[in-house]
Formats: sequence, structure tokens, C-alpha cells
Amino acid sequence: MSKVLVIGGGLAGLSAGCYLQLSGFKTEIFEAHSKPGGLLTGWSRNGYNIDGCIHGFLGSSENHPYYYMWNELLPMDAIQFIDYEKMYVFMFEDGQEFIIYSDLDRFQEYLLELSAEDKALIKELVNDTKAIGKLDMSFMIKPRELYGLLDYISMLRMLPALRLMRKWNKITVETFSERINHPLLRKSVRYFLSPVLMHMFVHSAMDQKVSGYPTIGSLGISKLLEKKYTEWGGTLHTRSKVNKIIVENNTAVGLTLQDYSDVKGDIIISATDIHSTVYELLEGKYVDEKLRQAMTKLRLNSSRLQVSLGVSINSHDIPHSFKIILEEPVNIGSEKHHFIDVLCYNEDTNAAPAGKSLFIIQIITRDYDYWIDLRATDRVEYARQKKKVANIVISILEKKLGSLDGKIEMVDVTTPATYYRYTNNWKGSIQGWDQENLFQGNPFKKQLSKLVNFYLAGHWVEPGGGVPTAFKSGRDVAQIICKKEKKEFMVRM
Ligand SMILES: Cc1cc2nc3c(=O)[nH]c(=O)nc-3n(C[C@H](O)[C@H](O)[C@H](O)COP(=O)(O)OP(=O)(O)OC[C@H]3O[C@@H](n4cnc5c(N)ncnc54)[C@H](O)[C@@H]3O)c2cc1C
Repeated sequence: MSKVLVIGGGLAGLSAGCYLQLSGFKTEIFEAHSKPGGLLTGWSRNGYNIDGCIHGFLGSSENHPYYYMWNELLPMDAIQFIDYEKMYVFMFEDGQEFIIYSDLDRFQEYLLELSAEDKALIKELVNDTKAIGKLDMSFMIKPRELYGLLDYISMLRMLPALRLMRKWNKITVETFSERINHPLLRKSVRYFLSPVLMHMFVHSAMDQKVSGYPTIGSLGISKLLEKKYTEWGGTLHTRSKVNKIIVENNTAVGLTLQDYSDVKGDIIISATDIHSTVYELLEGKYVDEKLRQAMTKLRLNSSRLQVSLGVSINSHDIPHSFKIILEEPVNIGSEKHHFIDVLCYNEDTNAAPAGKSLFIIQIITRDYDYWIDLRATDRVEYARQKKKVANIVISILEKKLGSLDGKIEMVDVTTPATYYRYTNNWKGSIQGWDQENLFQGNPFKKQLSKLVNFYLAGHWVEPGGGVPTAFKSGRDVAQIICKKEKKEFMVRM
């Protein structure tokens, strides 16, 4: 029986490990941190349970093909999901509010009440979002590495939706807003995801209620996967950082751990950051020109500053997800920020003690080096800057919620340095590489040329990244290995 060693017990590593165990391989996962899950995690502070990752879990209902993929490993019917009525509320400092209702018909009604003069454009946006939402994504579950002629032929049925996607992929929020007459609608559209196609994907998933929030949180999902993995006979080693991949005759044959012990295996999967995998664990020996080009040209995905606040107020009247848009930007690190995104966990009874509320404020940042270098060189100043970010966020929030003086019981701040420290993701990127253009081919392969018995999984080999993508990449690698080793690919009964 082939022995598979998996580096990294994040979502991709757990997924690969589970599928391979089910398919009759003996696997061991080596995870650097004290618990698995990687970025798919959460933590508790002072009675509050902070979710560190998921907002929407794509495939949360049977109406989406990913549900069946998750269900191959997870007991999906036992997980409770919350579908929010409002996808987002934009709050401007002058008191104006703009609501994105999750239900597309309700949203259209709201928009038409707001601006009859933009009727044609509103209908175009809503109708096209609905049409894109009807796209049958089931073909995406099969690894593209295993596509045959029939798979390409069956993709032809996507052509009508593809035309729409191409159209909206070219439209940025700025160009779209220029076509709008109504001032509130025009300025609000600028805060949609860009290109508008990205917004449409998320909105159609919310409309169809296929991207709910799991009440067990991100950590709950990781724990379930960990439980399944060990139940199916997998061995998970935590606090087991891998320092080197042992290679003999251009074949991966084992791992050297941080304590200098060696472990031998027949197949090695790295489900961690690609940068450290190829430059550190493999000492740069298998970086061909194509990979080097991809890694130098592609933009990293963003990281986050996350401020979590435990507040002794009742938040039932506050929307779950809102954006406070500032008239004057605030300076944080070396960046200027024009808005903050707030999640209020008011329907999730696990998040905060009864009668109290958890607010998670996220600020998108690409100031990776500033935070990572600051933490490495001056811990006192790093702590001071984290406190400064928390104070900025609290004062912005108070403009909307009123004084929180004496009501804040818990403050927790994470920075790109936190993600880097706990998960080793390069520069603290939370989703690997950016995917600016959906129609750009993926330059990453799940195997390195000239290195035998070695595979890559995780969000770093699937630009755009994210929870379903990382999970699927682990599944893909398991399926590719099964095909190569002539074993049947098996899923949970
Ligand atoms: C704040 C935040 C919000 C997010 N929101 C969303 C969202 O709403 N939707 C969405 O789809 N995605 C979201 N994501 C992204 C998503 O969490 C990631 O894309 C996904 O979890 C990545 O999984 P992975 O297994 O590829 O990588 P990771 O989670 O990074 O797992 C890699 C694992 O490898 C371990 N490791 C690294 N180096 C070594 C080594 N040398 N030896 C041993 N172990 C090692 C790490 O400790 C880690 O556990 C979010 C992430 C964050 C942080």
C-alpha cells in the first residue's frame, strides 16, 4: 500500500488526506501549528468566539453542485447555515444608506423605487445576474487535469452564460457607475466587487441561498474534517513543521521535520504556501522558467487587518454585513483606507454571550511587508500600531452605533503578520494569488516538471483561492493520484 505524506493540515491537506484514506492509501499529515485547519479557523477570547474566515460557504444547500462535493466528506445535513436577508448595507457618513438585498427580485424592486430613471440598466444587471446564477457548475468538480474530449464538449452548453460572463468581466465598477444617473446608486455601485462579474457571482449565490454561514463556524468545519480524517485511519501530526522534502534521483521520497527526524513515503503532497515549498523545502531546484515567471508576475491576493470587538450591547437591529464608507480616508501603516467592512454576528448565538454582540471589522490590506517587518523588528511598536488600528475602527463604528464607552469587553487584532506566523502563507496573503481576470488560464500545475511522486494542492495553485477552491484542489490531487496508482477514487458512503 502506497504511503502518502501530506505537508500542511489546512483545508487542502485535510481534503487530500480524507479522500486518499477513503481510497485505500495510508496517509500522514504534518502540520506546523498546534491544530489543523490553517486559515479555516476561529478562536475564543473572553467568552466570544471569533470566526477567522468564512462569510459564505459556497455549496451550503442542495441547489449547488458543491453541496454534493462537501457531502462526500462532511455530514452536510447536520450543519446549520444562516442565509442573510441583506447581503450588504453601505453606510455613508452623510447618513445615506444603500441596501443590497440577497433576494434579487427584492433588490430590483428596491432599485426601481430608488431610481426609475435607471430602469433599463437595473433590469440588465438583475436579469444577467440571474442568468449567470443558472450556470450549471457541476462540470467544475472534475479535476481539469483529467478532462477528456467529452468534458470539453459538454462545456459547450455553457456558451450563452459564457458570453454574459465575458461581457461583465470587462466592466469595472467605475465604468459601470458612469452609466448610472441616480447619485446614491452611482456612488454605491463603486463599492461592489470589481469587475461587476465578481459581484454577480456572489449575489446570485446569495439569491439562491447556496452560500450560507455555517453556525459551527470555520473552526467547526475544520474540526469536523479532522475528526473524519482520523476516523478513516489517517495520522495527523500537529506541531510538526516540515523543513525539507527529501529527493533522490528527482523523486520525492520523504520529509525532514523541524526536529531533524526523517519520514519516508512513496508520494509527497505539499498543501502549503507554494513560495516556501519550492524555494525552501525544495531549495529552488525545481523552479522552471514558467513557474518563475508566474510567481514573479502574478499579483498576490490581499491580506486583512481584522479587529474583533466583544460589545455588551444587543445588536438585533444592526445588519449582519455592512460597509462604512468614509468621507476622509484614514491612514493605517503605509496605506489610506476609504472604508471598513463590518460583520455583526447577531443571528449566531454561538458568537457572543447572551445579550451581547460580536463585531468583526475587516480592512483589506496589501501592506504585507510593513506589518511582517514591524512584528519581526519591534514588537512594542507592533503592539502600539495594532492598538491604533483598533481605536480607529472603534471611533468609526461609534459614529454609526453611538458611544461604546464602557461597553467593549474584548478587543482582538490580527494583521498580515498573524496569518504569516500561524499559517506560513507568503506575505500573509489570505487567498494565495489574485485572480484579476477570470478568463486567464491557471499558470500553476499540481505537479512540478522533473520531480516524480510530488504534488501541490491548496489555494496557491488555484489563483483566486478560497475555501471551496482549496478543498477541491485537495480532492483533485487525490483523484489524480488514484488514477495514476490505478485505485478507485472513493468518497464517504
Ligand atoms: C480573514 C479571512 C477571511 C476569508 N474569507 C473567505 C471567504 O469568505 N470565502 C472563501 O472562500 N475563502 C476565504 N478565505 C480564504 C480561505 O480561508 C483560504 O483560501 C483556504 O482556507 C486556504 O486553504 P489551504 O489549505 O490552501 O491553505 P492554508 O489554510 O494556508 O493551509 C496550509 C497549512 O499548512 C501549514 N504549513 C505551512 N507550512 C508548513 C510546513 N513547512 N510544515 C508543516 N505545515 C505547514 C499551515 O500551518 C497551514 O495549516 C479567508 C481567509 C481569511 C484568513
